[in-house]
Amino acid sequence: MKTVTRWTDDHFIAGDLALDFANTVYRRLPEVGADLLDSGAALIGWYVHAGLLRPAEGDARRVTAGQLAAARLLRARLWAVLEAQRVGNELPSGALAGLLASAQAGLERDLVVAADGAVTPRTAAGAGAAVALRAVRLVLNPPARPVRSCDRCGWYFLDTSRGRRRRWCSMKTCGNQAKAARFRETHA
Ligand SMILES: [Zn+2]
Repeated sequence: MKTVTRWTDDHFIAGDLALDFANTVYRRLPEVGADLLDSGAALIGWYVHAGLLRPAEGDARRVTAGQLAAARLLRARLWAVLEAQRVGNELPSGALAGLLASAQAGLERDLVVAADGAVTPRTAAGAGAAVALRAVRLVLNPPARPVRSCDRCGWYFLDTSRGRRRRWCSMKTCGNQAKAARFRETHA
């Protein structure tokens, strides 16, 4: 039997839900690692853990292969836009248009936006659209502290540390591995 990704708070370290969604691979660098969005159940599980769907709303059996592929495409577009932004390039218009199209499709039927801007998905498709909306908001209105990516695994995060020196997705994983590697180098 195939195991389904078990999401924990360690998968939600970015400080922005769109970035957490971008981080749904084991690692993004130096080459893309295992895909954590490996099934409809994993996708629904992510939406539930992210607070976009209530557990009762998350019927993984109703996620089609097309919806899973759409979620991965959304993530790929997010990477393209974030990478351009990170290195200071013009945003790729095709990828940005794709994010807007995902958001639009959701707005037509699968989510509601409250007066305060809070987005509530009605369905799994709506949850994907909510992620797309978050992504559009993030890239068109970039935070004062730019999006950074982990030196080791390429996961994205907002650096809200006081000294603005956050280098790793998490001290528990990449931070400790980097420290151990440095220790080995200096004690070889
Ligand atoms: Zn990392």
